[in-house]
Amino acid sequence: MTWTNWAGDESCVPATVRSPASVDELAAVIKQAADQDQVVRVAGAGHSFSDLVCTNGVLLSLDGLRGILDVDKTRNVVTVAAGTRLYDLNPALAQLGYALPNLGDIDRQSLAGAISTATHGTGRLLGNLATQVEALQLVLADGSVRTITAADDETLRAARVSLGALGVVSAYTLRVVPAFRLHAQERRLRLDETLAQLDELAEANEHFEFFVFPHTMHALIRANNRTDEPAEPAGRVREYVDGHLVQNKLLDLLCRAGRARPSLIPRLNRLITSAVSPSTRVDDSYKIFASQRSVRFTESEWAIPHEACAEAVREILRIVRARGFHVNFPLEVRFVSADEESFLSPSYGRATAYIAVHVYRGMDWRPYFQAVQEIASAYGGRPHWGKRHLLSAGQLASRYPAWDRFQAVRAQLDPSGRFSNEHVRRVLGTPHSA
Ligand SMILES: Cc1cc2nc3c(=O)[nH]c(=O)nc-3n(C[C@H](O)[C@H](O)[C@H](O)COP(=O)(O)OP(=O)(O)OC[C@H]3O[C@@H](n4cnc5c(N)ncnc54)[C@H](O)[C@@H]3O)c2cc1C
Repeated sequence: MTWTNWAGDESCVPATVRSPASVDELAAVIKQAADQDQVVRVAGAGHSFSDLVCTNGVLLSLDGLRGILDVDKTRNVVTVAAGTRLYDLNPALAQLGYALPNLGDIDRQSLAGAISTATHGTGRLLGNLATQVEALQLVLADGSVRTITAADDETLRAARVSLGALGVVSAYTLRVVPAFRLHAQERRLRLDETLAQLDELAEANEHFEFFVFPHTMHALIRANNRTDEPAEPAGRVREYVDGHLVQNKLLDLLCRAGRARPSLIPRLNRLITSAVSPSTRVDDSYKIFASQRSVRFTESEWAIPHEACAEAVREILRIVRARGFHVNFPLEVRFVSADEESFLSPSYGRATAYIAVHVYRGMDWRPYFQAVQEIASAYGGRPHWGKRHLLSAGQLASRYPAWDRFQAVRAQLDPSGRFSNEHVRRVLGTPHSA
């Protein structure tokens, strides 16, 4: 069987695909793989853009391990099976009166896949998803099952964001917050004004982000703030027009046109920017956070110091024009608070701006992503672990203050590299290199 990622541009042929239905079965599969000296990787929802998941050994699906396993109402924590998809978890939490405080812009991922790469949303005072993890259950290379709590803080900090390189997570205990509604506002704002007011906008809104298509003068800004107002979702027609027709169908159509005739891209980018009309709505937080993404693309995203954001965005837009890159997808800019919860968190120790760049499927991403990587690297940029970048362990180590601490835990938990594939060896090195 061939496994393929969501974008459709990374695939592999594993020797075996297994979908255990219990933690005991999962442990037995891993033990058997170890006995047969096979590599083990887990596929979540396959929404990472690189070959992060790929293996010719044993590929595991945790689709059989789903759902909320325990709720502690006195401490506001829930224990959730690692294979649970976010689109199932969010409404299940809402039924219990809970929510995750922040989410990314889709809900298709598995919980473990999202956490293992430090998937994030936007919010200057909010961390990535992994910062919600209070404890986790990890199945190790010998098939033993370990519950890792704050009592073993060093291991917990290594295991939250681990790219699947320490073992297979079977469950997470997550801190949750009371369910809340968001007031969402989308509008256009001149790009120069947006960049000049970036700090104010990020401070004034709990969740602020913006998109900008190269060759345009306007940013499309999105500001979500908590509200007690009753839910007032976009009408079905409005949702269909804005969410489906403009953000997916029209975008896809214009991307195809741009791919066929790249000289049209600047005009097409201006056309789609002008097609976005201002809107507001109020809804449950998780319904506001998640969008539909049916247009296929590939992506690279960089975590840089918050204060470098405006200048880095200007440089990227400048280089797109100067080098004539054909870019018919917007940059997406978001903000995340500093954290020290996970050694490999891209926002480790610094207030972070994330800048994401995208390339429509079937178009050459390398020259553009390489140029963006150089710009981000000048600011000490750290790549999103689930997205494309060209760095290797030797280049990444100095960008992560707790790199050696992660590697020490890795050498202890998986000294033989049972959970390492080619991608993991490139970006983390081999376990003994600790
Ligand atoms: C359309 C789209 C929108 C996106 N939006 C955002 C966004 O808003 N914010 C953001 O930060 N990212 C975003 N991403 C990236 C995405 O969130 C990450 O790549 C995430 O890791 C994908 O989750 P997944 O379940 O598909 O995991 P996969 O891609 O399948 O796996 C990711 C990693 O997790 C490991 N893994 C999975 N399950 C386990 C387990 N049980 N134990 C140990 N390791 C495991 C895998 O081996 C792999 O290393 C987006 C991606 C797409 C395609």
